[in-house]
Amino acid sequence: MIAPSRLVRKFVEEPSRRSKPMDHLDQNQRSRLMGKIHGKDTRPEMKLRSLVHGMGYRYRLHGRDLPGTPDLVFPSRRRVIFMHGCFWHQHPDPSCRRTKLPVTRGEFWKNKLEGNRRRDIKTETRLLELGWSSLVIWECELSDLDQLRPRICEFLG
Ligand SMILES: [Zn+2]
Repeated sequence: MIAPSRLVRKFVEEPSRRSKPMDHLDQNQRSRLMGKIHGKDTRPEMKLRSLVHGMGYRYRLHGRDLPGTPDLVFPSRRRVIFMHGCFWHQHPDPSCRRTKLPVTRGEFWKNKLEGNRRRDIKTETRLLELGWSSLVIWECELSDLDQLRPRICEFLG
């Protein structure tokens, strides 16, 4: 069960959801949205999972016992993979087109997303201290699986 406060926070955090109140959604959209809130199975994460699974690796999901709750956990390798949305985690690649800040409330977003970024760095450090290596896969990188596969292979060994 996800705590109610967490549900509320998710709603507040994501602008695409803020601008579309539930009342205006049809049944289909509503169940899709609720599915997203109740589970963590967002589409990019599913895509990554099936890629990694198809490469023959087995993993645990959502390591809640680890800093940052990594999406995929490879316990025997002591490695974790994070699937990061380019906007929410501010993909630092200058060629990424998904990091643009909203025009309205620019300062609010800037602070918020910088906070996310700082938290990510802290998470990586804490994982390292515990003996875990992490790899971040960015959402936009899922559009080129041929390039992604060797990186995952190299990371997991
Ligand atoms: Zn990106």
